[in-house]
Amino acid sequence: MLFARTAPLRSTRREQPYPPAMPEMIEVSFELTRDDWIGVNEACVRESPAWEAAAAAHRKSSRRTTLFMLPVITAGAAVFLGRSQGMYIEGALLGAAFGLFLLDALPRVNVIDKQKRDALTQVRSADLSEYVGATTVKADSAGVWIRTPTREMKLAWAVASVSKAGDYFIVNYANGGGAIVPRRAFASEADRDDFFKQATEWWSAAQLPGPDRIARYVADRDVACLKCAYNLRGVRTDSCPECGTPLLIDELVSAQAATPRRPAQ
Ligand SMILES: [Zn+2]
Repeated sequence: MLFARTAPLRSTRREQPYPPAMPEMIEVSFELTRDDWIGVNEACVRESPAWEAAAAAHRKSSRRTTLFMLPVITAGAAVFLGRSQGMYIEGALLGAAFGLFLLDALPRVNVIDKQKRDALTQVRSADLSEYVGATTVKADSAGVWIRTPTREMKLAWAVASVSKAGDYFIVNYANGGGAIVPRRAFASEADRDDFFKQATEWWSAAQLPGPDRIARYVADRDVACLKCAYNLRGVRTDSCPECGTPLLIDELVSAQAATPRRPAQ
C-alpha cells in the first residue's frame, strides 16, 4: 500500500545469464509501524526518478502547447488591437511577446511539488492500521510469501519484484502497491545486501523463457530428473539428456522444495 511512485525495475538477465549459487530461501520477521509506512512513502517521494520524468514530461507538453498557440495569440492580439485602435502591428508584436513570455514561463511552473505534497498528505492522514504489526517475508526462487496480521500472500516472481527506498525494501506486487521490509529486519549489513541481491536474481531469472530458467536453475544445483533421476546439474537443454523427458521449471522447483534438505555438515 504505497501512494508514491517507485522506480521501475530493469532485468539484468543479459549481463548475468548464469549466476553463482544462491541460498534456497531467505526469511525475515519484523514489526511494522505506522511510521514505517510514512517513512517509505517519504523515501519514494524523495528518491524516485519517476518524479523527474514526470516533471520533464510536463515541461515538454506545456512548451509544445504554447508553441502551437503562439500564432493564435499573435493573430488574436493583432485583430483585437487593430479593430479597436487601428494598431494591427502593435497588436501582433504585443501578442507575440506575450506568447514568448508564456513559452518561457509555463514550463517553469512546478506541478510536481504539489503532487509530491499531496501524496505525502494522503499517506499521513490515511488509516494504516491494517498494514501494521508482526510481518514475515520469505523469498525463494519460486516467489515471495508475505504474512501480516491481516493477510497472507504467495506471489510468483512473475508478479512481484523488489526495489529499494530509503531504509526499506519494497516488494512490489500490485500497480503501485506492495509490502515493505525495513533494513532493521536484517541481522547484518551482509544479510541485507544478500536479500536484495538474491531477490533481484530470482526475479530476473523468472523473466527468462522456460529453457533459460531451467538452465539457470540447475546451473548450481543437484536436481534429479523426475523420471530417471539423472542429475541435471549444468544441463542447458529443455529435456533430460538421459531419458529425453521434457523439463518444466515449475515441476523441478516444486519437486526440489519437497525433497528434505541434507543436514549441514
Ligand atoms: Zn531423465
